[in-house]
Amino acid sequence: MSEPVRPGRPAWKEVRAILDAEEFFPSRKLGQNFLLDENMVQRIALDTQLGPEDFALEIGTGCGFLTSHLAALDAEILSIEIDRRLLKVATLLLDGWSNVRLVRADVLAGKHQLEPELEALLPKDRDWHAVGNLPYSVASPLMVVLARLVSPPKSMTALVQAEVAERVAARPGGASWGPISARLQIQYEAQLVRRVPPQLFWPRPNVESAVLRLDRREEQPTRESLVRFDALVSLLFQSRRKALVGVLAKATQDREGVRTLLEELELDPDLRAGALSPAQLMAMASSALWSKTS
Ligand code: SAM
Repeated sequence: MSEPVRPGRPAWKEVRAILDAEEFFPSRKLGQNFLLDENMVQRIALDTQLGPEDFALEIGTGCGFLTSHLAALDAEILSIEIDRRLLKVATLLLDGWSNVRLVRADVLAGKHQLEPELEALLPKDRDWHAVGNLPYSVASPLMVVLARLVSPPKSMTALVQAEVAERVAARPGGASWGPISARLQIQYEAQLVRRVPPQLFWPRPNVESAVLRLDRREEQPTRESLVRFDALVSLLFQSRRKALVGVLAKATQDREGVRTLLEELELDPDLRAGALSPAQLMAMASSALWSKTS
């Protein structure tokens, strides 16, 4: 039997002509920087490690360039785009891919919630993956929102600002280590996979981008412990340069209790609040002292 014919991607000139006919002008607010370099798009699609058994949610279809490379991996793709004009272009480009479903939606319903209609379209009985050349303005909150779902994605492969990728994949105590690093690394192994220079996009962004890969850890914290963890992370990073003992004593109003807890956890009271590893933060968030406070 011969191989099924794969729809090819039209040249950028042709796509540009369609965009011009739609009087499309890229929106900075919506992070509309399209990755044009076909080799790089293909590499990112391969970075996802998707295969025929997989389901992936793509955030930000754009013209459908990455979508078609994901579709070529034979995974089932649900691709979300907020901009009607782009969806029209993507629908033309992706005609023939029966494994792609395009939906017009704002992926976020507010800053801390995935659009409920979209969540309803995610598989309930098997793992799924998230992928996207993410709109830069929502990349960080969106990754945390996805991680905090009842069924979080097994992996996330995201093209984001290089600075965001560095922060997410940072090590505790380093200059880039911050709340986003702790919030994601408590559930995921994070890795900066590759850097993507601005000249590969239209229009060119002002900053370098990078592909970030997050792989869900085998052991997942309970939802209740994540709520306590998030509250502790917020507190400690507000005073990240201060000594742990002082920050916790002020919040709990129990300096003695804090001293005992730090001793139990074998933590130096003079350690800076922003230097704890995700596991240490979780141990502290799970203590009776913090449960009383949060
Ligand atoms: N995937 C395409 C590519 O790689 O060239 C486009 C990526 S572009 C960086 C981000 C896309 O996300 C844009 O098409 C933009 O319209 C869309 N977008 C922005 N905010 C969104 C939101 N809140 N919900 C869904 N899509 C959004």
